[in-house]
Amino acid sequence: MGYRRTLRREVGCTGIGLHSGKLVRLRLLPAPAEHGILFRRTDVGALIPARLDCLGEQDHATTLSRDGVSVGTVEHLLSALFGLGVDDALVEVDGPEIPILDGSAAPFVILIHEAGLKPWNVARQYLEVLEPVEVVRGGKTARLLPAPHFEVSYSIGFDHPLLRHQSLEVRVSPRTFAEGIAPARTFGFLREVETLRRHGLALGGSLDNAVVISETGVLNNTLRFEDEFVRHKILDAVGDLALLGHPLLGRLEATKAGHALHAAVARKLIDTPDAWRLVPGPGLPAPTPSPAPALSLRPSEA
Ligand SMILES: [Zn+2]
Repeated sequence: MGYRRTLRREVGCTGIGLHSGKLVRLRLLPAPAEHGILFRRTDVGALIPARLDCLGEQDHATTLSRDGVSVGTVEHLLSALFGLGVDDALVEVDGPEIPILDGSAAPFVILIHEAGLKPWNVARQYLEVLEPVEVVRGGKTARLLPAPHFEVSYSIGFDHPLLRHQSLEVRVSPRTFAEGIAPARTFGFLREVETLRRHGLALGGSLDNAVVISETGVLNNTLRFEDEFVRHKILDAVGDLALLGHPLLGRLEATKAGHALHAAVARKLIDTPDAWRLVPGPGLPAPTPSPAPALSLRPSEA
C-alpha cells in the first residue's frame, strides 16, 4: 500500500441515476500518478476533481461542482475507490449523476477488481491526523482523531422502532471494505419517499437500489447484514473522506452524522494546519522522483 495506484485497464457499466431516473454510461479509466480522482462529464466536456473545494450540494447525496457543471451521487463510487486504495483514476460519465446500481458500493468494487490495480513508482502521501477536530450540530457529531490506521466508529439512531440504535467500529482496509462495508445499501423511510418525489428527487429509486423501511418492517425481503444501515453510513463516510485527496491515518467517530457533517469535519481538519501533516506510507524507502506522466489530464490543460 506504499505506492500510488491506478487501474490496470478501463472498465465500465450503465445504470440509472437515483435522483434523475435517467440512464447513464460510466467508465473508469487508468490515470497518471498524482492525477487524483477526476470526473469527466463527457456530455458537456467538463472536468470536475474529487476534492473538498469542489463540493456542492449534499442533500441526500454528494454533488461535486466546478465552473457551473456538476456530477451527483458520487459518494458510493468514491467510497469504493478510496476503500480499495485507488489514488489515481479518471471517471467518465455521460450525464449529471453516477448510476445508483444496487444502492451499495459492491458493483463498483466488482468493476475495480475487474480492472485490477497497477502501482506507480510514486510514494503515497498519507494524511496523518495529529490533533482531534470536531463538528457538533444539534445531537449530531463527527470527530477526527489521531490513529495509526484508518478507522471509523459510527453510531446511528432514529425515531423508528426498527432502527433505534446501531453502532459499528471498523478498521478500513481493502479487505474489510470489500467484504463488510461495500455491500451495504442505501436506506430510506417509506414516509420520506413521497416528500423526496415531490421535490423531484429519488425518481430512479426503487426496491432494487435502496432498502425501504416502513412502519412495520423492511419492504425488501432480506437485509445483507443485520446492521446494514450503520454499515452504509460508514460507506458514505469513507466516500466523503475521499475528498481529502489522500489516504487517511486517523479515526472518524460519528454519531447520527451524514454527508454534510462528514465533509464539515474533513474541512475543519484541513483548515486547522496544526491538526494534520502529510507523511509517506509506513515502512517505505525514500520516494523516488515521479516519472513523467504518459498523458496529462490536469484540469487546466484539458
Ligand atoms: Zn449512501
